[in-house]
Amino acid sequence: MKALVYEGPWQMPVREVPDPEPGSGDVIVSVKAVGVCGSDVHGYTGSTGRRIPPMVMGHEFSGVITALGQGVTQHAVGDRVVVQPLITCGTCDNCRAGMSNVCMNRSGLGMMAVDGAYAEAVRVPQGLLYDLPAEVPWEHGALVEPLSIAMHAANQTPISLMTPVVILGAGTIGLLTILACRLRGAGQVIVSDLSARRLAMARQLGADRVVNPSQEDLADIVRGSIGKAGAPVVIEAVGIAPTARQSIELARPGGHVTWIGNSQPNVEIGMQQIVTREITVRGVYGFTHEFGRAIQAIRSGRVDVTPIIEQIAPLEAGPQIVDDLARGKTDVIKAVLTP
Ligand SMILES: [Zn+2]
Ligand SMILES: [Zn+2]
Repeated sequence: MKALVYEGPWQMPVREVPDPEPGSGDVIVSVKAVGVCGSDVHGYTGSTGRRIPPMVMGHEFSGVITALGQGVTQHAVGDRVVVQPLITCGTCDNCRAGMSNVCMNRSGLGMMAVDGAYAEAVRVPQGLLYDLPAEVPWEHGALVEPLSIAMHAANQTPISLMTPVVILGAGTIGLLTILACRLRGAGQVIVSDLSARRLAMARQLGADRVVNPSQEDLADIVRGSIGKAGAPVVIEAVGIAPTARQSIELARPGGHVTWIGNSQPNVEIGMQQIVTREITVRGVYGFTHEFGRAIQAIRSGRVDVTPIIEQIAPLEAGPQIVDDLARGKTDVIKAVLTP
């Protein structure tokens, strides 16, 4: 079969590799749609060290079961599925506490050295399979994983009916967070980003006000339209120093800041601002029960991910798309490959 094999920084050619065989308890999924994730782009450049060559990336995917390993009884060949990519142990203290997203023994399909779905087929442990309803297109199935992350962030943020929210960053996760906050009953949603194109998308997805901080003063706008003291809730979806600092500055005393962004490992932050203004800062990572609910959100039509999928391309186009994203030659929001 064909696969995009990550062979080292900036190297991910299309290769002919042996077809995967199902082990006991596994199935083989023929990949129909797989999303290109920012974490794959950072893995491709070698900057995060979270992709260990040689391996196949791709963790946001849907497909159809083509083979069953021994002991698989709940699924059949021909089933449409979407795969929850996190492999967790189920027995560590974190898993037992319901926090499988931070399992102490976690790994994942398409992460570290485990092969994922930038390929015609992938081996999947049966416990990771979810049914993909017939009315949900393959490409939308590929958006379930990032939507789960946004829904987890919204679930960990104190948003009640009509709470105003500021979201910093309108990449895939920031944009999906708009949709998740809407589901949760948020009031005014203000979104900040440096890209006019992304801000237009944020508007389309339901942001009430979009701000390009290179052209307007975000703090003034928040104080003018939410309240003089600042915003009760700020969500950071970039993961770099300037937006991390901004998230603290924009929160009102007693306010809540959620950090989803995960790019720069160390950031200098105004501790005193947090202390003297009683700000709560909450990190969020991955998802737990949100995965199944994200499928329902898409199936029911309460969340429409269609606009975010800006490019659908064959598997062979993947290396160029990832390279262009890594070099900043394109800022396509979500590209989906269809092996
Ligand atoms: Zn991802
Ligand atoms: Zn665990």
